[in-house]
This record gives sequence, structure tokens and C-alpha cells, in this order.
Amino acid sequence: MEQLGNGDGPIDLHDYRYGLKLRKQTRETSLWTNEEPFACPACGEPFEGLFTSEKRHNTFTPGDATPFCIVREPDRILMFRH
Ligand SMILES: [Zn+2]
Repeated sequence: MEQLGNGDGPIDLHDYRYGLKLRKQTRETSLWTNEEPFACPACGEPFEGLFTSEKRHNTFTPGDATPFCIVREPDRILMFRH
């Protein structure tokens, strides 16, 4: 199973567009469904959804997104929902 990113620098989601379906996008956030499926770069397991945010503050409600993994990049966070 292919893993997102190469562990070195920010993940370019455009490289994975063939297997990621964009569900929602705002200026600072995006929400994707993993249709390939790709493996999570944090734990190596397949994930269902991916949420990215360039916002400084992010709030998630329980049930929304558990369990999940977070990858932090200099300018954004990526949340992988399993
Ligand atoms: Zn994970």
C-alpha cells in the first residue's frame, strides 16, 4: 500500500489526486476521502478521510474523527481519520 509523502518535507496532495477525492475546500482547509486506499504517513495503516488545515486553531468534536493521526508541517496540519 502506498503511503502519503516520503517522510521528508510537506506532502504534495496533488501527487495523490488519482486516489483522493476532494469533499470540501475552504481558503484554509480541505477534506478528502481516501479511495485508493493510501496508508497514513503517521502509523502506516490505511485511513478513511483526510482533513488539512492552515488555521492556527482547530476544534474537533468526539465522534467526528476518532481514531485519528496528525502530521504537522510548518504551514499546516494534516489529520488522518481511520
Ligand atoms: Zn494513522
